[in-house]
Amino acid sequence: MPAAKLPVWRRQATQWLNGLSNRKSTVANHTRTSNSFMGLALTQAKAAGTRGEVPVGAVIVGPDKTILAQDGNRTLELKDPSAHAELLVIQKACQLIGSERLIGHDLYVTLEPCTMCVGLISFARIRRLYFGAYDPKSGGVEQGASFFAQKTCHHTPETYGGIDETSAAELLTKFFASKR
Ligand SMILES: [Zn+2]
Repeated sequence: MPAAKLPVWRRQATQWLNGLSNRKSTVANHTRTSNSFMGLALTQAKAAGTRGEVPVGAVIVGPDKTILAQDGNRTLELKDPSAHAELLVIQKACQLIGSERLIGHDLYVTLEPCTMCVGLISFARIRRLYFGAYDPKSGGVEQGASFFAQKTCHHTPETYGGIDETSAAELLTKFFASKR
């Protein structure tokens, strides 16, 4: 069967799996081992999946390692196409600290952020970005717009991809498989 005839979930699952094995990484592959903040992001991703949302979770950690916000995708619940996990936690953290910039703060997210979120991460002045699975379909760090690499990007966080990526990718592939 040609790829274009496959159901959407099959194509998405295949793209994620191919992305895991075939990608040419340009960002540092920080670690393959578990990380407690990424563990929390994965818990948020699972909760999002339980709500019927695409299972992506995110956590914002302050300069003193305090967790300021953690959440998962809520686009269906809020009827808001921008309600991605990264956007929700950045908004919450900004409200908490009373600033539109999160200087010195780190973001952990289970999936490579999309183009919209990569722009937001730059605007928010996030110090370090840690993400889980690479997303060949919609990612905006290594694929597509690759906004951090553009001249119009005025702040680029230190970026580390592939953290707990197998766990993050498994959640996504199981989610799309369940949509059969
Ligand atoms: Zn996004």
